Amino acid sequence: MQLLPDIYVVGGSLVGLTGSQVSGPFDDCNVYALDLGSEILLIDTGNGDSWPMIQENMQQWGLDTRKITTALITHPHYDHAQGAHLLQDAGIKLVAHAYTADAMEKGDERCCGYLYHRVFTPVSVDRILEDDEQFSVGSLSVQSIHLPGHTLGCTGFLISWRGKKVLFSGDVIGTLGYGHFGWNGSIDFDKQVYIKTLLKLSKIDFDVMLPGHGLASFTHPRERVEESLNEALMVWR
Ligand SMILES: [Zn+2]
Repeated sequence: MQLLPDIYVVGGSLVGLTGSQVSGPFDDCNVYALDLGSEILLIDTGNGDSWPMIQENMQQWGLDTRKITTALITHPHYDHAQGAHLLQDAGIKLVAHAYTADAMEKGDERCCGYLYHRVFTPVSVDRILEDDEQFSVGSLSVQSIHLPGHTLGCTGFLISWRGKKVLFSGDVIGTLGYGHFGWNGSIDFDKQVYIKTLLKLSKIDFDVMLPGHGLASFTHPRERVEESLNEALMVWR
């Protein structure tokens, strides 16, 4: 499904591509594909079971899956990162924050395999990011923004795209299409850190938010961040 010119959501429950259904309709994340012309960038990998369907979906949109060079990982949870080893086997470079990379390399409980009654497949990330880092994928400049709380490695990716600032926010804000927060059961979930992240994110300017699950926000996405911040301040202290 095309969301913006040359940006597609190619995996996740909104397009019916969840792959396994092992724990209900939200067991896979939104996977986004950005057509950069000479190459394609993915945001997150999905749960692995959905990888064949993601590729099929891309082909239906005329996206040549052989052009995928890079996948940016928002955090190590199974539904976002279990597919990473399959992508790496296909020659796709993995990029993630140092904490997320460490969790993925160990494949430990921070990856939440237990939640899906599966074992996370450990994988080494190819490029490890600092907390906030400007880097390039082909001609595209990407700003990573460390947004810990839902997990301690959560990272948003901010880009300028055809005159709009687009944030891939992972599971920081309302991840099931409703509610204000990402799931709070992760072993490295931290309320106080999460509040600081919401304060940080509420000061960052962006026009479109493309989250790890649920609906995209095309108007006033920061209002959702501010609602989350308000709720966090009320209920988490
Ligand atoms: Zn998550």
